[in-house]
Amino acid sequence: MQVFSSLSHSSKYYCTAVMTLNMILDEATVQRISQSPGLPQQEPTRSYWAEPSANIHRTGADADEIPEEADIVIIGSGITGTSIARTMLKELEDESDAQIIMLEAREVCSGATARNGGHITPAWYHRYPQLVEMYGKETAHKMIKFQLSHVQELLSIAEEDGLLEDSQCRLTESFDVYVHRAGFEIARQGYEAYMKEEEVSSLHDLTYLYDHMDELKALQLNPSYCGVIGTVLGAIHAYRFVTGVLSRLLQQHASNFRIFSNTPCSAVKTASSFYIVETPKGKVRCRHVVHATNAWTSHLLPGFRRTIVPLRGEMSSQRPGTGLGSGSRPGSQAATSDWQGSRSFVFYTGKKDGVFDYLTQQPRLSPTPSSNYPPPQAELMFGGGLAFNSKVFLAQVGNVDDTQSISELSTYLSQTLPVHFEENWGDNSELSDENDESHWGKGRTKASWSGLIGLSADGNPWVGRVPAELADGRKLEVHEHRPGLVEAGEWVCGGYSGEGMTSAWKCGVALGRMILGKCDTPDWLPNPYTVSLERHANAQLEDTLQFFI
Ligand SMILES: Cc1cc2nc3c(=O)[nH]c(=O)nc-3n(C[C@H](O)[C@H](O)[C@H](O)COP(=O)(O)OP(=O)(O)OC[C@H]3O[C@@H](n4cnc5c(N)ncnc54)[C@H](O)[C@@H]3O)c2cc1C
Repeated sequence: MQVFSSLSHSSKYYCTAVMTLNMILDEATVQRISQSPGLPQQEPTRSYWAEPSANIHRTGADADEIPEEADIVIIGSGITGTSIARTMLKELEDESDAQIIMLEAREVCSGATARNGGHITPAWYHRYPQLVEMYGKETAHKMIKFQLSHVQELLSIAEEDGLLEDSQCRLTESFDVYVHRAGFEIARQGYEAYMKEEEVSSLHDLTYLYDHMDELKALQLNPSYCGVIGTVLGAIHAYRFVTGVLSRLLQQHASNFRIFSNTPCSAVKTASSFYIVETPKGKVRCRHVVHATNAWTSHLLPGFRRTIVPLRGEMSSQRPGTGLGSGSRPGSQAATSDWQGSRSFVFYTGKKDGVFDYLTQQPRLSPTPSSNYPPPQAELMFGGGLAFNSKVFLAQVGNVDDTQSISELSTYLSQTLPVHFEENWGDNSELSDENDESHWGKGRTKASWSGLIGLSADGNPWVGRVPAELADGRKLEVHEHRPGLVEAGEWVCGGYSGEGMTSAWKCGVALGRMILGKCDTPDWLPNPYTVSLERHANAQLEDTLQFFI
């Protein structure tokens, strides 16, 4: 889902940013975001992505106790925690240098990573003029390049770990579809400004802009919409990617990496030269605590209470039906005109940029001996509608209940694809597929579930060492040096504002390398992502929220 962070800094905001949180939010919402998000709630809604479960889903759940000591404790087993663990395990010079434990409150990978839209589609031209205005040209290019590089990065990791098939990590034709004229014209200006730059000349053959009704028709889209801007980006089955990577790490690093699922970290304390990580299975003494908990960050790091804020969203899985999938993209030389599984869409449906829907489609594959999973059957993975109604949107800000679907949004999602594709949406015949076990819903919608986004107050991820001021004042009294690792501390990596597939992996790589002392911060990590008290003081949630309500 691409857009949140692209919006929070627009120049429109700078003209009008005089509102305070209390003016934008109702009392109940202000109260919610001022409280701890608590621990992840048990029995979350069933995400279609996470069924069937990976065979490591309950790793360590039945252990009666956990080790009393470790060097590094990573809290959270989503894409962030996984990237950090993989980086450190691969780059440690000597395995005996560090014992790493990963704690997960629920099943392995049961947060946003298992509940998302599967898009690897960063905002590219969308944010360019505003990023230049805020950070200058060089940093603007670096930020966009960082996000774009995730498409190749995730493909490489999937290939290295033998996960190309299970993770469905692939290139897609990615279309931004503009419903309203004014939105399309602003997008066109951003696109033209970006494409003029010499740095992106290699993109010229890979991007397209359509603004004729015939072109929209050829794309099977509602021909009354205003325009489309597209390029080649990516899509992924993030649950199978992450659990696949973790599974391999557990096998390859059995001597120094362990996961304990169903083991929440309830508190972090200090004792002289160690941190004490508390769980219901016991306490772990360690030198480094890594917070990879995204929407839940501020439970253990109260300083992030209004800085990384939970925002509940809804996703659905829908049967493809009979009408969609035919026709090449105008101007394309592709040999086949069947586009099932190879396209993704962001539909900008509102007058405000934060109002959008997002759609990917799983490929249609046959069973193979190399995968333990049932093959995907071209399911349409559709999310969004979050800000179509400001009252509904506000009710999701600070809402951490992913045990319930958002009824207004699941209804919206089940009714909206026929609007985007008009008659191409097709009829409801031939609905059964090989994954159609009886427990999925009938009709077009198979499943609908909720998940928690970690909304960053300034729209950028937070990566780095956590100052004591943001960690409830926790500070070690004595600093002992451990070979192979930097000075002990707490670390954070999160707040991707709904763009985790284009940020989390490399933010995790950066953090892993920082803890190993390989660099202060890698030079490819955009500066605005690093943690500092100054940035924290300037990050105001109202800046971001004004784009939705
Ligand atoms: C509905 C929805 C749609 C989205 N669509 C997209 C998309 O299409 N493209 C995109 O780029 N991004 C999308 N995102 C965002 C993306 O999924 C996230 O940014 C990314 O998955 C965050 O990964 P993470 O590992 O940081 O967090 P998570 O995957 O949420 O993992 C955090 C883990 O920490 C655990 N945890 C929390 N607190 C504790 C504790 N105290 N003790 C132990 N464990 C704890 C949680 O149980 C959880 O498993 C979407 C998000 C949602 C909710």
